[in-house]
Amino acid sequence: MNIIAIHKEYDTQKKCIQHLEKLRWNGVVRCTYCGSDHTKPAKGEQFRHSCRSCKRTFSVLLDTIFEHTRLPLPEWFVIIALVLNAKRGMAAKEIQRHTGVTYKTAYYTAMRIRIGMLEDNTQLDGIIEMDESYFGGKARKKNTATNDPTLSTVSAKRGRGTKKVSVAGMVERDGDVKTKVIEKLTKRNLLHMLKTYAKEDNSLLITDGFKSYSHFDEYIEHMVINHSKAFSKGIVHVNTIEGFWSYVKNGIKGNYKSISPKYLPFYLVEYEWKFNHRKFKGDEFKLFLDNALKHENELEYWKAISPEQVKKIAYS
Ligand SMILES: [Zn+2]
Repeated sequence: MNIIAIHKEYDTQKKCIQHLEKLRWNGVVRCTYCGSDHTKPAKGEQFRHSCRSCKRTFSVLLDTIFEHTRLPLPEWFVIIALVLNAKRGMAAKEIQRHTGVTYKTAYYTAMRIRIGMLEDNTQLDGIIEMDESYFGGKARKKNTATNDPTLSTVSAKRGRGTKKVSVAGMVERDGDVKTKVIEKLTKRNLLHMLKTYAKEDNSLLITDGFKSYSHFDEYIEHMVINHSKAFSKGIVHVNTIEGFWSYVKNGIKGNYKSISPKYLPFYLVEYEWKFNHRKFKGDEFKLFLDNALKHENELEYWKAISPEQVKKIAYS
């Protein structure tokens, strides 16, 4: 994506607003409060509309990632383009260097951009690999020799006093990835994730021998790669999801250094987006804005905390 082109095309607040209005409403302004399309331009307030039904006024930014922002939209758009271009992630410090906004603004903006990357309609199909990984603290090798199923986050946490976060991931071969922070990697929780994000008909699930995956074949066609014997057996392997874990961990390590366990889900969303659109040839900027404007309710998950207050843990 050409950042100069983006900046040229959307160099004023007005142009940005008009673009967002077109994407969100496509000509028919709809009240964000009551859904009515009975609106008129708000008197004396630029870029605002007034609802004839509920009598309230609103702008296209309400209930979106741009809500209450003081950063001019042309700068927002440049930061979005920068973040989308950074295939391995971009730290707030770097956004600050590129654009001259303050560190805090860069941090908040990047966090909101991550919210805009959330895609919740994932339905995986075909050959699906599922695996779990632990984030944060010192890297601890999975005990592959004995395929030790007891190596849960809880034991790792208690054993070492590190705050590891357990994440489950599913990927469709040559397709999309979906991850979820799951505190307890029980069969019940993992099955719930599988049922939410995968079609069971005509799909084949591949996992390692982690005990929580046992008896998944009652629900879906299931093959297990026994890592104590081999890492792959023809199509039976979990190399794709393991590749994704490395991609995320190297990205975090190389760009963010340390992030809060609390906000790990946001970073996962960012890497998911980047992985899932790695082959996308169209206009990713538009794709992002379209998606971001759809997500009006996710903001509630994001409570703004000053970056200095965020408790971080190192990723090594
Ligand atoms: Zn209304």
